[in-house]
Amino acid sequence: ANLVNQIAAGEVIERPASVVKELVENSVDAGATRIAVELREGGKSFISVTDDGHGMGRAELELAVERHATSKLPDDDLVHIGFFGFRGEALPSIGAVGRLSITSRARGSDEAWRIRIEGGVKTGPEPAALSAGTRVELSDLFFAVPARLKFLKSARSEQNAVVEVIERLAMAHPDVAFGLSDDGRTVLRFDAARPDLAEGEDAARLKRLGDVMGRDFADNAVALDVAREGFRLSGFAGLPTLNRATASMQYLFVNGRPVRDRLLQGAIRGAYQDFLARDRHPLVALFIDCPPELVDVNVHPAKAEVRFQDAALVRGLLVGGIRRALDAAGH
Ligand code: ADP
Ligand code: MG
Repeated sequence: ANLVNQIAAGEVIERPASVVKELVENSVDAGATRIAVELREGGKSFISVTDDGHGMGRAELELAVERHATSKLPDDDLVHIGFFGFRGEALPSIGAVGRLSITSRARGSDEAWRIRIEGGVKTGPEPAALSAGTRVELSDLFFAVPARLKFLKSARSEQNAVVEVIERLAMAHPDVAFGLSDDGRTVLRFDAARPDLAEGEDAARLKRLGDVMGRDFADNAVALDVAREGFRLSGFAGLPTLNRATASMQYLFVNGRPVRDRLLQGAIRGAYQDFLARDRHPLVALFIDCPPELVDVNVHPAKAEVRFQDAALVRGLLVGGIRRALDAAGH
């Protein structure tokens, strides 16, 4: 079974950033309002993710590390996966490539439990101490898979990849506070935006986008919000005068999930082409939302690709939406 898990892990778990992505997505799914990520050596020797989500009871915790155990499958309809990632693969895969411990306390319960997996061998659950939520720790990533260990980069590059993962997830979830430290030093801190403070959802989102993309983006972007045939496109497009960015400053989300997609990036470039000098790149943070059956987000578990049923429609929505917003802003 451990070999199966290691093979599955090879698909999904390539480096510390992949572990952080899976664990933080789980925390978001668990309704966390604060998520703290701690690394050592860029995550190569230690990763922990602590959340204040709904947690797990003893039985649920045992189930969580079984293959294909997911609490998130709605009915038997595989198409309607509204949550992230591959179903029930992440924790066993992570447990196959490092020393994993999961401590959790179900909301409303006064006891916490811990389970450990090392080299695929499970111990526990045993009673533990935790005030709320879930804490997952992973030591010695890939200690059991030397071939993969070799491909890890410097602590600094691994940290940078983790930063990118957290930034993207943080942009999609402005109501959640995120923290990242490495070797005891704070790397990122995003306070939770407070849409309840009469600022509204847009303001909360823009504040978080500013935290990640810079104040000048937040101050020089136009809002867009258009809908067509079940699709909604919202978010912010940087004014052409501001466009100093590289391609990696195009942030795209589909149903709340960060994606990197050639087709969508091409559409964005197309939308800006009349507005931008040749050597400039558009700067955008855009959110596409649609019924789950119109998009396949699981093309590849680790890559952030998507496949739309009607790609031309989405392209048109992007190009039209951005152009009209820039036009309206006088560009
Ligand atoms: P998936 O997220 O696809 O369901 P995972 O292997 O990532 O699969 O997680 C397995 C299960 O463990 C989840 O369905 C969930 O029930 C539980 N779980 C994992 N992480 C957390 C967490 N941080 N808080 C609460 N429950 C969690
Ligand atoms: Mg998961």
